[in-house]
Amino acid sequence: MANSRFEYVRTFERENILLPQTHIIIRIDGRGFHKFSSAYEFQKPNDPNALKVMNLSAQALMKSIPEVMMAYGDSDEYSFLLRKNCDLFERREFKLITAFSSGFSAYYQYYWNIVFPNKPLSVERLPTFDARAVVYPSDSIVKDYFRWRQVDCHINNLYNTSFWNLVIKGHLSPQEAENKLMGTVSSDKNELLFKEFGINYNDEPEMYKKGTVFIRDVGDTLDLVPNSDVNLSKRQVERLRGKLRKVTINELHCDIIKEEFWNKRAWLLK
Ligand code: ATP
Ligand code: ATP
Ligand code: MG
Ligand code: MG
Repeated sequence: MANSRFEYVRTFERENILLPQTHIIIRIDGRGFHKFSSAYEFQKPNDPNALKVMNLSAQALMKSIPEVMMAYGDSDEYSFLLRKNCDLFERREFKLITAFSSGFSAYYQYYWNIVFPNKPLSVERLPTFDARAVVYPSDSIVKDYFRWRQVDCHINNLYNTSFWNLVIKGHLSPQEAENKLMGTVSSDKNELLFKEFGINYNDEPEMYKKGTVFIRDVGDTLDLVPNSDVNLSKRQVERLRGKLRKVTINELHCDIIKEEFWNKRAWLLK
């Protein structure tokens, strides 16, 4: 940028550099998707095509940013785990969150048009996503973060499945359904689904119950990921990014609460 006498205004800008040597997780979430999902008539409680748009977008974003080692999502949210020690955007928080939220929003609109060719987006109600970045200081807290999101998915899905069956098949009003579920625990909802609607919750699709996990499947090429980026030159970082870009991204709908998932994939937290 050319120097000018106006250049001084730059001194008002502030950066927040995320703590080095920690795991960064960026979570995006759809803005006002409660209304968005009713405006575009999502199938309730789960619209599989809307989830497909979310998953395609997350996968595309992950492909384009090789620092992302893993993504987990359900409903209108996705969490992206960056490689520990990575130096993406020099760890500048504002660059990171705006790149993820705008990138995800752009992919979402692109894939929406492909998945829903007969439901054009209205300029009055376009899908957008906000984002936050949080740093976590240890492996065990990162695991607990993802466990927290998967438990949340499970609790919401069990509730929504019960609620929408009461409304759609049970012909209750939304208020009546809400009242009926008030104070119930998981086992009550499982029983209600089975007794009133013949639904065995365990047989519901894994994607609805567990959400979606994308992993950059480094697998046997574990040596690819260095223990630290601190001493890597710019060229070495670029080479590493190139290699990570080529690693297959796999989609799973599995338990990420048990230690087994993490033990099998040590590179995710390396
Ligand atoms: P960063 O991601 O860091 O912002 P950048 O490549 O976007 O990197 P900018 O400093 O934002 O860098 O510069 C934007 C560049 O886009 C300019 O160098 C200019 O060449 C190009 N550009 C933007 N708008 C136009 C346009 N309307 N016509 C031609 N070139 C354009
Ligand atoms: P905010 O802007 O604060 O995030 P929100 O309306 O998006 O508000 P969330 O808590 O993010 O609220 O909830 C997202 C809502 O989107 C859920 O209530 C759910 O009803 C709806 N939703 C998202 N994805 C689907 C889907 N695939 N099928 C059906 N409903 C969905
Ligand atoms: Mg939302
Ligand atoms: Mg949400």
